[in-house]
Amino acid sequence: MIKKLYILLITIVIISHSASGQGKAVAITLDDLLVAGASGYTIEEIEDVNNQLLGHLDKLDVPVTGFVNEKSLYVKGEIDRRSEVLRAWAGRDKLSLGNHTFSHPSFHDTKLEDFKSEVLKGEIITRMILDEVEKPLQYFRFPFNSAGSDSTSKASFEKFLTEKGYTIAPMTVESSDYIFNSLYKKAKKEGDKKGMNEISKAYLHHTDTLFDFFENMALKTQGRQIPHIFLGHVNELHADIMPQLVELLKRRGYSIISMEEAMKDPVYQQKDPYVGKWGFSWMHRWNVENRIDWLRKEPEPSEKVLADFKMLNK
Ligand SMILES: [Zn+2]
Repeated sequence: MIKKLYILLITIVIISHSASGQGKAVAITLDDLLVAGASGYTIEEIEDVNNQLLGHLDKLDVPVTGFVNEKSLYVKGEIDRRSEVLRAWAGRDKLSLGNHTFSHPSFHDTKLEDFKSEVLKGEIITRMILDEVEKPLQYFRFPFNSAGSDSTSKASFEKFLTEKGYTIAPMTVESSDYIFNSLYKKAKKEGDKKGMNEISKAYLHHTDTLFDFFENMALKTQGRQIPHIFLGHVNELHADIMPQLVELLKRRGYSIISMEEAMKDPVYQQKDPYVGKWGFSWMHRWNVENRIDWLRKEPEPSEKVLADFKMLNK
């Protein structure tokens, strides 16, 4: 009897353990600080977006790495005030900053030497601010995740990054938040609460679908679940719905870890063998053999969302 009870208890423990999805982990990264599409925002608006986002992150108590385009700091008479936005990020225990180039060019369309200059020009204020709080400037993220279109310039740039003390920041899941954010901003501007709500839901649903896809892909191509690195942007959508996004990840069984913690996993020690202009997930880059098949299967936003976005950009 006792033995039976013991077996039952063990079974319950195993089931509840797997149902809670323990062991799943994801790092959240947000690009384009001070804000995506910064030239369209006033300093007051930039502060509002960041204050709201940081307020959420304080309450959620999750680590996030923000990737900076320093060009957005260089507005006459506003450099000090704009730098304070980065200081607000760097000063928080769980947050850190990385380099995303000065002005967000694609490596694919930029000469190697010019692209190197973009890295150096893009780190000056960020490095100074991180120094103040004794945090390292560790990660570099390629704009558009365009990581080199020929093997010679790719290797040469990677060598340069290593010499400068940078590690390339990969990403495994991104859910086209720029599309949803454009639609969300429009609805917000028009005071369309119903529209804002629908777009938020559609974004969260699409993100959920992508995690289904990449979890399945990790099992099939890596033989196990891996710690994911999620890429989004500092934008109005995330400033409003970050709690729902984190809730979604937790509901899926994820613990939110830092970029540094995620990068300790051996999956990120693999070389990225992809040479080309496209900015797809590192899951696809590592998957050399049947990359095209998996790329074709990756879920897209709904047709309605894509059509609305197309209309917006007409
Ligand atoms: Zn970017």
